[in-house]
Amino acid sequence: MMKINVITIDGPSASGKGALALRIANIFGFKILDSGALYRLYAYFFKMNFSPDEIISQINMNIIFNNHKNRLSIIYKEDDIASELRSESIAKLASELSSKKEVRDTLFNIQRNFYDGDILVADGRDMGTVVFKDAKLKIFLTASPEERAKRRYLELQNRGQEVNMPALIADIKKRDFNDSSREISPLIPAEDSITIDSSEMSLDEVFSFTESMIRKEFN
Ligand code: C5P
Repeated sequence: MMKINVITIDGPSASGKGALALRIANIFGFKILDSGALYRLYAYFFKMNFSPDEIISQINMNIIFNNHKNRLSIIYKEDDIASELRSESIAKLASELSSKKEVRDTLFNIQRNFYDGDILVADGRDMGTVVFKDAKLKIFLTASPEERAKRRYLELQNRGQEVNMPALIADIKKRDFNDSSREISPLIPAEDSITIDSSEMSLDEVFSFTESMIRKEFN
């Protein structure tokens, strides 16, 4: 298989994929695809009662992704809706919709179009197993449910959102179950991926671990 210039980072929710992808993209100057944001956008427009075709054109024509130093902004009609997309209610709907084949098929093309030959870092659930099977470097990043709930708790609290820890752990476990037991594109490590358990690692440590692999693979 001809390999393409993509680094995939897959793993369960709140495992630190997004932060690692941003760090890699910013330090090396690579492009970035936050595929979870596309599923969240799908849910966001679905909630607004758009039809599937309309959802795709909204995403293609009216959404702008901007990579700032430490976060991605997602602009819709001049508003940054990134925080709204990170809410637990959108996450829940995104997770439900993501088990539908037609949703995955349409988002597949949008995701593939993010690659134009330049090095791309793509994070999600099935980047290495489905969307970029031909990626040069595949990482599977995981952490215990409790640790991930703790991270999500801090993230939501920082945004001023109300959070309840036991509910958060239960939600994360349920989402893990949905994501890994669904029939199409379940959350599983690609055979040729490298698994990193970040339960007891800081972002800096995870980054250093991946840095040498990236330098080796992409010179
Ligand atoms: O990664 P994030 O939490 O933003 O993703 C939101 C939801 O979208 C996930 O719970 C998952 O169900 C779905 N998703 C997916 N495949 C991806 C990325 C996200 O099914 N590649």
